[in-house]
Amino acid sequence: MTTPRVAILGGGISGLAVAYFLRKISKENNRLIEVRLFEGSPRAGGAIKTEIAEGFLLEKGPDAFITDKPWALALAKELGLENELISTQAVNRRSFIARNGKLLPVPEGFYLVAPLSVRAFLNSSIISWPGKLRMIAEPFLPKKSDDRDESIASFVRRRFGSEALERVAQAMIGGIYTGDPEVLSLRASMPRFFELEQKYGSLIRGLQIEVKSKKNPFAQASGPRYSLFASFRQGMSVFSDALVKSVPGNLIRTGFLAHGIDYEPRTRKWQVDFGEKGLKEFDAVCITLSAGRAALLLQKSLPDISKKLANISYESVATVNLAYKREQISHSLDGFGFVVPKSENKTVIACSFSSQKFAGRAPEGHVLLRAFVGGAFGRESFKRNDEELLSAVTSELKEYLGIHGNPVLTRLERYPDAMVQYRLGHTELVRDIRKDISLFPGLSLTGSSYDGVGIPDCVRAAEIEAQKIFQVIPESFNRESNLGMIPDK
Ligand SMILES: Cc1cc2nc3c(=O)[nH]c(=O)nc-3n(C[C@H](O)[C@H](O)[C@H](O)COP(=O)(O)OP(=O)(O)OC[C@H]3O[C@@H](n4cnc5c(N)ncnc54)[C@H](O)[C@@H]3O)c2cc1C
Repeated sequence: MTTPRVAILGGGISGLAVAYFLRKISKENNRLIEVRLFEGSPRAGGAIKTEIAEGFLLEKGPDAFITDKPWALALAKELGLENELISTQAVNRRSFIARNGKLLPVPEGFYLVAPLSVRAFLNSSIISWPGKLRMIAEPFLPKKSDDRDESIASFVRRRFGSEALERVAQAMIGGIYTGDPEVLSLRASMPRFFELEQKYGSLIRGLQIEVKSKKNPFAQASGPRYSLFASFRQGMSVFSDALVKSVPGNLIRTGFLAHGIDYEPRTRKWQVDFGEKGLKEFDAVCITLSAGRAALLLQKSLPDISKKLANISYESVATVNLAYKREQISHSLDGFGFVVPKSENKTVIACSFSSQKFAGRAPEGHVLLRAFVGGAFGRESFKRNDEELLSAVTSELKEYLGIHGNPVLTRLERYPDAMVQYRLGHTELVRDIRKDISLFPGLSLTGSSYDGVGIPDCVRAAEIEAQKIFQVIPESFNRESNLGMIPDK
């Protein structure tokens, strides 16, 4: 009798978490499964990339994760990383919005688009008086009568008016999803907003009720909920590195780029083509790459599913870490960063004050900033060469933050086609793809392309997928010892 073999394709947080959970479940159930992970690039971690250089801790990809979605936090603790976790700094938990070349503070109690503290909101100069009146009328508007999907832009316009969309929501959403709110699905991208309107008839009322009843820790700070963001003292790579360490080294293969997947119905086996590294056969394959890449792998063997996967779209982004001496910057940096609305016509779409947000990101007397470029409104900027991009970013930051002189260190990292866009109809499309996939036991899909883009969503989806894989793969034999520890052949 042979041991069932599972291939996990992709070594980002999703693939690593699937490997971790599958091994855990198989141990708990006393079943031997050969779990192998294949990563195309020379390193595991995917989008997560921390670099430590000249005393700075640079996050090139994600710099934090939200903790009110508990799955990433729970996994970090399970991996023994509790003492490594850090929260955002306790001071200046607020953000800014660019308007006419200046940075205006987002009023206290402002949750993305919903003003929860009316007094602070009324004092703000981000929105005009007619715009403010329109926004605070939100609790008195009827709720949407049907539950059809709508774009984020349509939702914001309907509930808060056009100004709220143009001056605030578009930039905030751009900073998170790097997308165009006119085409992003509210239900798929911001399901909480959809649910709050459905349940309470109003976003402001719903948030206020939940905050009061402590069901929901929203609105503790302006902009995103900063106190609920966590990271690791030594950066986000600590998380992916711990997952790598939890799996015996010979089961994770880097430099293994999958070129195609084939199914043999007679033997019910899956063949993965690793190009010059050969063909390998498995009882189950879990694809954790973006839907676009998954589509390419399945193009020949499952063309219908492949076409559906190819309908999920992406935007490209780049991050630019820039370090300065504190005295080079005249802005007080009394916040965690700023977002830039499309109407400002800039290259930078958002910028984090990384060393103000988390401790230990810059040496004494220095500041670390991190700018975002690209997304739906920045496709042309993304195409510029490194030199042009760096020059545009540094000159815009100079203008917004009153910087003199050049940065002491810069790092530009490009993420082509990396930010998935949950467009209108995304939920239905994913449901349809999952239905098709269910006809092929042993094939599974997970990752940020389907049910949530953040790291906690990826972790939760990975655990669910690991359970599903465990249910479908054939059982070979039970053994008390050496569970899940198959030596490399
Ligand atoms: C710049 C940036 C900032 C972000 N900031 C945050 C944040 O602050 N907080 C947050 O929660 N989320 C953030 N996100 C989102 C989050 O980082 C991602 O959704 C998450 O890391 C995706 O993980 P993944 O494993 O699904 O995919 P990836 O990390 O993309 O991993 C996929 C892996 O598959 C590999 N691969 C690709 N093709 C093949 C192939 N053919 N064969 C084998 N391997 C292949 C790739 O090399 C890669 O390692 C950010 C994303 C980006 C890009």
